[in-house]
Amino acid sequence: MTRSLPALGALAALALARPAAAEEAVQLSRFDTGLVDRKLDACTDFYQYSCSRWLEAHPIPADQASWSTGSNLQIWNESILRETMERAAAPDPKRTRLEQQIGDYWQACIDVANLDRLGLEPIHADLDRIAAMKSKAELPRAIAHLHLTVPGAPGGFNVYDNHTPAALFGYGPTQDFADATLVVAAIDQGGMALLSRDAYLAEDAKSKEIRQKYQAHIRKLFELAGEKPERAASDAAAVLRIETSLARAAMDAVKRRDPKNLNNVRTLAQVKAATPAFAWATYLAEIGAPASRHYIVAAPGFLAGMERVIQAEPLSAWKAYLRWWTLHGNAAALSTPFVEENFDFFFRVLFGTQELRPRWRRCVTYADRDLGEALGQAYVTRAFPPESKQRAEALVRSIEAALATDIDGLEWMSPATKKAAQAKLRAIEDKIGYPKKWIDYGSVVIGRESMAANVHAASGFEFRRQVAKIGKPVDRAEWTMTPPTINAYYDPQLNTINFPAGILQPPFYDPQQSEAANYGGIGSVIGHEIVHGFDDQGRKYDGQGNLRDWWAPEDGKQYDAHGQCIAAQYTQDIPELGIKQDGLLTQGEDTADNGGLRIALLALESAYAAQGKSLDAPGPDGFTDRQRFFLAYGFAWCENIRPEFARTLVGMNPHSLSRYRVNNVVQNMPDFQKAFSCRKGQPMVREVACRVW
Ligand SMILES: [Zn+2]
Repeated sequence: MTRSLPALGALAALALARPAAAEEAVQLSRFDTGLVDRKLDACTDFYQYSCSRWLEAHPIPADQASWSTGSNLQIWNESILRETMERAAAPDPKRTRLEQQIGDYWQACIDVANLDRLGLEPIHADLDRIAAMKSKAELPRAIAHLHLTVPGAPGGFNVYDNHTPAALFGYGPTQDFADATLVVAAIDQGGMALLSRDAYLAEDAKSKEIRQKYQAHIRKLFELAGEKPERAASDAAAVLRIETSLARAAMDAVKRRDPKNLNNVRTLAQVKAATPAFAWATYLAEIGAPASRHYIVAAPGFLAGMERVIQAEPLSAWKAYLRWWTLHGNAAALSTPFVEENFDFFFRVLFGTQELRPRWRRCVTYADRDLGEALGQAYVTRAFPPESKQRAEALVRSIEAALATDIDGLEWMSPATKKAAQAKLRAIEDKIGYPKKWIDYGSVVIGRESMAANVHAASGFEFRRQVAKIGKPVDRAEWTMTPPTINAYYDPQLNTINFPAGILQPPFYDPQQSEAANYGGIGSVIGHEIVHGFDDQGRKYDGQGNLRDWWAPEDGKQYDAHGQCIAAQYTQDIPELGIKQDGLLTQGEDTADNGGLRIALLALESAYAAQGKSLDAPGPDGFTDRQRFFLAYGFAWCENIRPEFARTLVGMNPHSLSRYRVNNVVQNMPDFQKAFSCRKGQPMVREVACRVW
């Protein structure tokens, strides 16, 4: 995962049609060695050396939690989607179904006066239904209704997430761990609106303060929905009590990183026996779930805890919990007071953001979530010409070849394990830009009347689409990110690497910049994703995506020793926040950062050797291309970040903060130290360097 830099000429280079006004207003960040602060020493703090001038010139806007070299690319991508939606919203009797959906979605979202006029109306029926509940036996039906209407319950579970962000628990399809051809049902821990389990349990003063503010936020939403202050206060206390009980039963994020801990195969009878207070038959019938050969219960302890809390809490507390998830899940699609109260806690308190983003940007975000592959088609047409795809494919192949060379040269790995690793590497499927087939949204009913109704329709469609996969063969063509997304991922169960068109743009990838800079930018991102197939999680899957140990025992031990070096290095104090990073949580990402940059450099070296060029000849700006490679890497990570957001990330995010993604990596690289003539004892030279790949 990543960020970006500035320039307008990029638009022409990207072969865009006439850019919209909004796009023209955005200056894409571009890598430029003129931004390097030569008064500083690269060997003292390479992140500052690469970034300090950019950071000084780019303070965080009031409506952002952070601001990075990729932030303008984000706005640029969003501008393309905005223009597409605005055009589709114009009255035209010849509009296609897709244009009608996109256009009406936009109109319903952007018309704040209409949202304010509607007030609580769009969820009135939902609230009435909860009020009419007579016993806890009706809980399964109520949870099913939330899963079918509220976004954020994508179905199944993601081994990279701490929990599924859905009411009470997560339900959906997952590829079977033992048989990668099968899709089975998964039940995951969930039901917590705070971003991590630890946010409910940590005993430090700051965490307690955040929980107080969280409880106050829940109370205020209840009051906005018409509850009397006293009742709202006791309901908010009940909600926090239930969510805290669920958090206590949840598996912690580090334990969750080992897929073996998640692969708990159960029959439906066993699931039912674990939770007699919850009628699974009712829930499954409500969501229309197909039968599953078996069920993967990601966290058995969570199911036991869920049973305890259903029994322990009275019906009134459960009604409060259901009302909260209804209000919380819909707040962003309701009138201004709900939108502002939701912002106040989830952005101002948790991230430190001062202002709401402009309405148009939020509408683009929601549309990308709800109709992402429809909008994605327009984005690809505008921003991702076939030659960009071809060049990206060639880059990926060159970096995969570099990892093959790297594996061959490893001293600690036996020939048998090397052979198996090479087989897995060859089996990786590269997905570049956008999916081969698009999701068909034809059945989703979108109108101009109510944004909440549109969100319910899209969420229900997506949840049912996910659930319908259970029992069917695995669809290898699917993506879990939309084309305009500035990010990338490795899927260990499909053994695919995926690079949405959104990240194959400046400054990460820029046809106008040097080859060395492209390898340092997008090349390092590609390397990162490939190495995920061989990090401490990914290495546990084979090339077909089965959870199967293909390592000779001695090689497995060697791997763990090398991995522990990384985990120990990144278990570090973050002085300005007064907290410590847990290197066991970030180990996979850190391994991918370190290995990714190394193999990107190897690939660049091969490309230069093939062309008979030198990486070490100084250019007109005084930097060699080897230095340029590292500078482009540093530049891709320049980021100003609010302390509140940084603190929230360190508590839950498996990625290290940007400056460590730069400095800790180069500290481990003799190639970097040689390129900048760093001496032993300087901060960017570690006494004991870690290396896995
Ligand atoms: Zn990653």
